[in-house]
Amino acid sequence: MPARILILGGTGEAAALAHRLAREQPDAIVVTSLAGRLSAPPDLPGIVRVGGFGGVEGLIDYLRDNHINRVIDATHPFAAAISAHAGLACAALEIPLERIARPMWRRHHGDRWHWARDTAMAARMASALGRRVFLTIGAQELAPFAARGGPFYLVRLIEAPESRLPFRHYALVLGRGPFALEEERTLLAAFEIDLVVSKASGGKATEAKIEAARALGIPVILVRRPTGIDLASPRP
Ligand code: NAP
Repeated sequence: MPARILILGGTGEAAALAHRLAREQPDAIVVTSLAGRLSAPPDLPGIVRVGGFGGVEGLIDYLRDNHINRVIDATHPFAAAISAHAGLACAALEIPLERIARPMWRRHHGDRWHWARDTAMAARMASALGRRVFLTIGAQELAPFAARGGPFYLVRLIEAPESRLPFRHYALVLGRGPFALEEERTLLAAFEIDLVVSKASGGKATEAKIEAARALGIPVILVRRPTGIDLASPRP
């Protein structure tokens, strides 16, 4: 039976993997699945499907109907629901599941990191610690910061939002990693940023903002990674 591989994607790692499999396993059928958060799916080799599966049951149906015999979870470290669904669905069908882990950034001398357990806590900390805050947390996570009014926010998103962001004082920059250190230093300096807020995503593509903050002595609030979602049936 030919390899029929499902990549759970939405990351640079997933895109790189799709390209690598196309080169190294040209006979394999490779499907990259995207949640559909961005307006235009990236140009990827193989098949690209977009949109949720409909929970664990929907994913089980998809895997079965499409005769998938290998699943690679290359989603973002904060995409806890889809990773949990993949674990349950693959276990139910006894399909091998691999996970591409993204290593967390290493702490270096000069780093001024503050940890937040979630974005609500990060927002409270940001209004206490910063006056001009670089917010690189994703379009889905802006609401807790918006509710606080407070500081000036420099918000970086991948795509332009459809309407004005709900901040009193803000500027918007659009960009998608990888980012270069010099570029990040220049941005932080140009906007006189005194605090960076980021998910503890890790990975090379977005590390430059952490390095730039270190170089400029700017504190960073890091939102902790989710520890996983327990979707299993309640224990007796
Ligand atoms: P999530 O909370 O784990 O997933 C929420 C729901 O979105 C899932 O239950 C699933 O819907 C659907 N979904 C998520 N990823 C999917 C995929 N690759 N293919 C098909 N359906 C998917 O995920 P999220 O944090 O909203 O992230 C969504 C996507 O954006 C992920 O693929 C992730 O790799 C990417 N991303 C996330 C972040 C982040 O900070 N969270 C950053 C960069 C990229 P159903 O239950 O209906 O199947």
